[in-house]
Amino acid sequence: MNDGEIWARHYGTGQAVRAGWRQGIFTQFEAAETSPERDVWLAPALVDPQINGFGGVDFQRDGLTVEAALIAARSLRAAACSRFFLTLVTDEWPKLVNRLKHLRQLRAGHEELRHAIAGWHIEGPFLSTEPGFHGAHNPALMLEPEPDHIRELRAITHPDPVLLTIAPELPGALDVIALARSLDIKVSLGHTNASAEVLRQAVKAGATGFTHLGNACPQQLDRHDNILWRALDTPGLTVSLIPDEVHVSPPLFRLIHRVLGAETIYYTTDAMAAAGASPGRYTIGVMEVEVGADQVVRQPGRSNYAGSALRPIDGVFRAARMLGRDWRRAWEGSSICPAKFMGIRGGLTLGCPADFCLVKTDEAGQLESLRVFSRGQESP
Ligand SMILES: [Zn+2]
Repeated sequence: MNDGEIWARHYGTGQAVRAGWRQGIFTQFEAAETSPERDVWLAPALVDPQINGFGGVDFQRDGLTVEAALIAARSLRAAACSRFFLTLVTDEWPKLVNRLKHLRQLRAGHEELRHAIAGWHIEGPFLSTEPGFHGAHNPALMLEPEPDHIRELRAITHPDPVLLTIAPELPGALDVIALARSLDIKVSLGHTNASAEVLRQAVKAGATGFTHLGNACPQQLDRHDNILWRALDTPGLTVSLIPDEVHVSPPLFRLIHRVLGAETIYYTTDAMAAAGASPGRYTIGVMEVEVGADQVVRQPGRSNYAGSALRPIDGVFRAARMLGRDWRRAWEGSSICPAKFMGIRGGLTLGCPADFCLVKTDEAGQLESLRVFSRGQESP
């Protein structure tokens, strides 16, 4: 029995609405006669296309159990995110493929995971080996992409949504991008130092995204010509940003919004195991990392970041703070925008799963409490 209805103020319009659902699917949105509590807002649940782990669970480990996957999915839900793309990072290809097969089987056998894991994000091993650009990925494990890699990925994941992050300057990458698109795999450019010309060719071949712009590049960049300027100057790319106030500085965050506009930006946490857990030492596969109270993930003794420990709900409020906006105007960056980019139906829409949040804010507009529903069922 997963039927119900609620009254709240619509996060977008500010109007009082009554939303109803039957068997976990939205069946009704109406102007409400009774006015809801003043600062309780109805908003779509968040969607995150790049989650490497969460709630102490590392998706890069072999033999992940259903219980561990559920801990991660439920911790994410408690942080407002009901659906995510489980992300696997660079490893030896056979290991990565086996992990993907295992995770897919895990998901297939469990209803809750089938909904929570909206698809797969393969970030590596087809990435730049250049210092700075490979980020926390092991450059020794990078591969030149071949059509068979892409066919194999599709054979394992069919018909799930898949996002592939790739450096288009690698030999063979442009052909592989075209093949991926023809097999309905979304392609995002990232961990790349491609020239302006190659970026444009990649878009022409079918790439539509740029992964965590402003990261996976060296600390020092040529002021005249660098991957940031080139990516921003390439038409046809929707960029993801990590809105933790660290991965992208607040001025750059604002500038990117001014240059690109909200329609071609979505937010992702790029979260790893430490997100939704306490500061300390964690792993991303074989790599050990440290997480401070600032939720920044670092390899011990190194300055580059290795994913984040940001919770999706915190990302919305930090994005709003950086933009000097009300949180309600940053919400779509972590909900509607990533869902649209990945082709996932959702939002506060009739016929879509009743995945939503009731967000209560205080007088300063800060988060006071959060209730999260997935297919009409409230998370404990
Ligand atoms: Zn990355």
